[in-house]
Amino acid sequence: MSKVLSFAFLFLAVGLLVLQLFVGNYILLDLTATGLIIIAILRIEKVQKEAAVVKKNATRHLQEIYNATHDKITGLYTKEVLFDKIRKTIDEKKDIQYWIAYFDIKDFKIVNDIFGNAMGDSVLQNVAQWLRENSTKEWVFGRLGGDDFGICLPAGNANLEQLERRFSRYMISNGSIEHRIIMHMGIYKITERDIDVSIMFDRAQLALSSVKNEYNKHIAFYDNKMRKQVMWDQMISAQIEKAIEEKQVRPYLQPIVDNNGLIIGAEALIRWDHPKEGFLQPETFIPTFERNGMIADLDKYIWRSACEILSTWTGEKSNLFISINISPKDFLFMDVFAEITALIEEYHIDPSRLRIEITETVMMTEVENRMAILKQFRESGFIVEMDDFGSGYSSLNQLKDMPLDVLKIDMKFLSSSKNSQKAEIILRNVLKLSGDLGLSSLTEGVETEAQYNMLNKMGCDLFQGYFFAKPMTVNEFEKICEAKVA
Ligand code: C2E
Ligand code: CA
Ligand code: CA
Repeated sequence: MSKVLSFAFLFLAVGLLVLQLFVGNYILLDLTATGLIIIAILRIEKVQKEAAVVKKNATRHLQEIYNATHDKITGLYTKEVLFDKIRKTIDEKKDIQYWIAYFDIKDFKIVNDIFGNAMGDSVLQNVAQWLRENSTKEWVFGRLGGDDFGICLPAGNANLEQLERRFSRYMISNGSIEHRIIMHMGIYKITERDIDVSIMFDRAQLALSSVKNEYNKHIAFYDNKMRKQVMWDQMISAQIEKAIEEKQVRPYLQPIVDNNGLIIGAEALIRWDHPKEGFLQPETFIPTFERNGMIADLDKYIWRSACEILSTWTGEKSNLFISINISPKDFLFMDVFAEITALIEEYHIDPSRLRIEITETVMMTEVENRMAILKQFRESGFIVEMDDFGSGYSSLNQLKDMPLDVLKIDMKFLSSSKNSQKAEIILRNVLKLSGDLGLSSLTEGVETEAQYNMLNKMGCDLFQGYFFAKPMTVNEFEKICEAKVA
C-alpha cells in the first residue's frame, strides 16, 4: 500500500514539475525538487532498513538450522541429521560401496571423573578435529552422543588402522596424572543397502563391543558369527518368558561337601531344556541376558525357585543350604537386597540357608554402595560368598574391607597353569589368606580324589566339583541326600 502511495505522490510531483516548467516559476520548481530528493532519501532508508531486517532474520534462521543439526560441543552433525545424510548418500550413489564405522573413546568416564568435564569436552573436540583433518569429502560423519561417533565412508577409502593408531598417541595430563586416549572402532561393510541406518550402526556397534575391552586390537568388522549371535540373542530373548512359564528353564543343583565328604548344601545352576535347541548350558544364554538386562528376571526366577525348594526340605534336609548366583548386572535393575529379603520372608526361610554368591566384578563400580549392600546381607543373617576368586578383577586390596563369609576359589584358574608346583603354592597361600582373614574357603572344580585330599590337607573347608557330583535335577539331588542320610 505504501508503495502505491509513494508512486502516486511521485507521479503528482513530476506532473507539478512539468507544469511549473511551462509556467516558468523557478522558486516553486526548486521547492518541488528538494521535496523529491527528501522523498527519495526516505524511501532509500526504508528499503535499507527492510533489507537489514530480512538479512538478520535469514542469519538467525541459518543459526537456528545450524544449532538444530549440529552438536554444540564438537560442531559435528547430530545423530538424527547424520543418519539422514547417510541415507541420502547411500541412496544417491548406488554404484559406490560404503562402510559404516562406529567408534568410541575407551574409559571416557574416567576422563570426565579424573580430569573434569572441561577436559572431557576438549577431548571430544579433538576427536572432531581429527575427523575433519583425516576425512575426505566423501565421508559423512557426526557425533552419535556421549563419546560415540559415526562415519559413513566409501569402502576401503581410508587406512582406518593407521588413522586410529595416529590418534591413539594422544595423551592428556592434569600435571600429575597422564592418560592415553584410545579409541575402538566397529565397522559394518554395508551389504544390505535397504536396512535402516540405525540397524547398520547397531551392527557396527556390535563389532565394536567385541573389541571394546581390548588394549591391542582396536578395530573389528561385523561378520557372520556376530550376525548369528544377534539372531540367537533375538530368538532366545523372545522365548524366555514362555520358557520360564513352562519350566523349560529351571535350577539344577550341584552338591557342596564338607571336609568329611558330607553334603551340606548345593549351588543352584540354571539349565534350559529347550524344545528345539536341546539342553542348553548357561554359557549359551546367560551372556545374552546379561547384555540386554533380562538376566534380572531370570535370576529373580531362579532365586524364587531356590526358596521354594528350601521351603519343602524338612527333617535332615532342613539343614541344607542353597547358594544362588547374583549377576553384577542385577544390581543395575533392582534392589537386590529388598528382592531377596522379600523372598525369604514369603517362604519363611532362615537367611543363612540362602547363600549369596557374588563375583569380583560386582565391586568394579559403585564400590561403597555395593559394600553397603553386602553388609546389609550379612547383618540380616545371610552368608555372602565371593565367587570365582582370583579369576577376574583383582580386588586383593578391597578384600580386607569387604563384608564376606566365604572365599570361593575355582580350580580352573590353577589348572591352566603349566607349572603345577607353583599352582599348588598359590592355592596353599590363597587358602591361608582366606583363613587369616577369618573367611571360610570353598574350592570348586574339584575333579579328582588326589585334588580333594591335597585341598583337605591344605585346610580347605568346603568342596564342590565333578569328583563329588555334577549338577543334577532337584529330584536327583534329593535322592542322593536321602541315600546318604539313610
Ligand atoms: P559358576 O557360578 O562358577 O558355576 C560353576 C560352574 O562350574 C558350573 O558351570 C558348574 O557346572 C561347573 N563345574 C562344577 N564342577 C566342575 C568341575 O569339577 N569341573 C569343571 N570343569 N566344571 C565344573 P555351569 O553350570 O555351566 O555355569 C556356568 C556359569 O554360569 C556359572 O559359573 C555362573 O557364572 C553362571 N550361572 C549359572 N547359573 C546361573 C544363574 O542362575 N544366574 C546367574 N546369574 N548366573 C548363573
Ligand atoms: Ca557360582
Ligand atoms: Ca564359580
